[in-house]
Amino acid sequence: MRLRNVPGSRDIIRESWFTIKDETEYRGKWNTVFGNDHPIYIEIGMGKGQFIMTLAKQNPDINYIGIEKYSSVLVRAIEKQEEEDLPNLYFIRMEAENITEVFEEGEVSRIYLNFSDPWPKDRHAKRRLTSVQFLERYEKILVKEGHVIFKTDNKDLFDFSLEQVEQAQNWELLNHTFDLHHSEYIEGNVMTEYETRFVEKGNAICRMEIVMTNKKD
Ligand code: SAH
Repeated sequence: MRLRNVPGSRDIIRESWFTIKDETEYRGKWNTVFGNDHPIYIEIGMGKGQFIMTLAKQNPDINYIGIEKYSSVLVRAIEKQEEEDLPNLYFIRMEAENITEVFEEGEVSRIYLNFSDPWPKDRHAKRRLTSVQFLERYEKILVKEGHVIFKTDNKDLFDFSLEQVEQAQNWELLNHTFDLHHSEYIEGNVMTEYETRFVEKGNAICRMEIVMTNKKD
């Protein structure tokens, strides 16, 4: 994706109350940040945050953490959160590769991936957020039978992701569709910024829901 450099965005992030600094300090203790034991759902690659902010408003009994590596997009979400002041929503600016340093085993109940970067070159396949390598990281932070829900309009990335789930040791495909907006799974669907743009262009949106099992056991 192309990024406009928003001057001073790093400073805004550093100063914002809603953005966790020293995120590794809270590993195993995220309930103290929220002040309750509600389940934690995260979105990796949240961009400007429309999706996670809508969910946080709809579900006050779930805690949400949005993860984004670029300050220039994250800053937009922070500005919205400064107005909304939702108590069940925080952000972390970080590279998702380090996710296991931030959450302890069983600390996260659900992971959302929306319109993740495709990394089209084969040699970059490991960087795709649905690669076996990332699924293994998710296993280390999710509750037993935790779900990952993934949406994309990129058919190649979606096909790759289906293959990865097949190959991965501890994952099962619960359901999937190649055309979310003309399927039963559209009920309750919360749109992301990218999704709005792609649906307007007429692109079909693919969606899968996978569950962590312990096939090894
Ligand atoms: N989820 C939003 C944005 C999609 S674009 C939407 O659907 O509208 C993908 C976003 O993921 C970008 O903002 C990108 O910076 C972020 N991202 C991609 N790879 C990441 C990674 N490894 N760690 C953290 N953020 C990542």
